[in-house]
Amino acid sequence: MKVLQERSLAPFHTFGIEVQAQQILVAETAADLVAIWQDEQYRTLPKLIVGQGSNLLFCEDFAGVIVLNRIAGITVTETESAYLLHIGAGEDWHQLVCETIARNMPGLENLALIPGCVGSSPIQNIGAYGVELKDICQYVDTVELATGEAHRLSAQACQFGYRDSVFKHALKDSHAIVAVGLALPKAWQPNISYGPLAKFDPETVSAKEIFEAVCQVRRAKLPDPAVLGNAGSFFKNPVVTQARRDTLLAQFPSLPSYEMADGSCKLAAGWLIDQCGLKGYQVGGAKVHEQQALVLVNAGGASAQDVLTLASDVVCAVQQTFGVTLEHEVRFMAAGQETYLEEMLP
Ligand SMILES: Cc1cc2nc3c(=O)[nH]c(=O)nc-3n(C[C@H](O)[C@H](O)[C@H](O)COP(=O)(O)OP(=O)(O)OC[C@H]3O[C@@H](n4cnc5c(N)ncnc54)[C@H](O)[C@@H]3O)c2cc1C
Repeated sequence: MKVLQERSLAPFHTFGIEVQAQQILVAETAADLVAIWQDEQYRTLPKLIVGQGSNLLFCEDFAGVIVLNRIAGITVTETESAYLLHIGAGEDWHQLVCETIARNMPGLENLALIPGCVGSSPIQNIGAYGVELKDICQYVDTVELATGEAHRLSAQACQFGYRDSVFKHALKDSHAIVAVGLALPKAWQPNISYGPLAKFDPETVSAKEIFEAVCQVRRAKLPDPAVLGNAGSFFKNPVVTQARRDTLLAQFPSLPSYEMADGSCKLAAGWLIDQCGLKGYQVGGAKVHEQQALVLVNAGGASAQDVLTLASDVVCAVQQTFGVTLEHEVRFMAAGQETYLEEMLP
């Protein structure tokens, strides 16, 4: 375990908002995590595990200990039908994707360039271009922080849903993810169902071509957090019943929607925000991105309050225009625990 001298969280989350923690620690093993949770000096303080902070908004200074998860290591084994990867939770997700593509182990190409650590990927079941973590996840290894007990959860036990899993509910705060197991089938099938990938011929396309196309589209569409602070899609795509979608379609015929396996419909949150004329709308240093309305950015010196006010304005506008309530995908942290937009407004 390492103890950092700095207290500023700006370098440790992609929004780049100037907030402080009481203490920042680095955990390199599961034992480090358990030791921190059992250490007398930290026992009474709030504690939060952070990967790369790419799905986080710190709404105020954190009155406790931030634990950076840096558990490393990747092992690959093979069966007749699949490559099996066991990955330490602190590994970088995109580096893992690059490495598998370079080693001719296809399956992760659609999930290229998603920021963050491998250990965070099951929490919101990361997804892009028609693929979600649940499609390739075999298991998730956790440690119970109060007891040090190790557990292995099957993919089914993870209860994956749209940007959701058991780690946001029953296991939140009590368990840390220490490793993730992925299975990449050797009988690879390209997934080119999503717009910009539909140009490819499924018979001839390679995983590398899909990887490169995904990287190109993402670089063109999404702001790079290293240049312009952001946490990716700020809101989830709202899920409504077919009947509700049909009512909206009658009024807004160009409304993009996507039917899900369970019969409900996902609406494009970015489109809803764009239709409200909010691209480029700014509150203090926080702004709705000019090209991608679903992303709120730190245009320079944004305070957490700027982002909260902006997010609230966006939610109100979409509610008024479409009668649809947007939920934030980004996790909000108050001084001691997770919070939500409604709770942070005056
Ligand atoms: C430019 C950009 C593009 C993005 N695109 C996508 C996308 O296409 N699809 C998508 O799904 N997401 C996307 N995201 C969101 C983000 O990349 C993912 O949510 C990612 O998995 C977050 O990883 P992280 O390590 O940064 O997590 P963090 O933000 O550090 O943490 C997220 C949450 O997980 C908890 N946590 C982290 N590590 C652990 C652990 N080891 N054990 C227990 N709890 C833990 C934290 O306490 C926090 O509550 C994007 C973000 C950005 C900035």
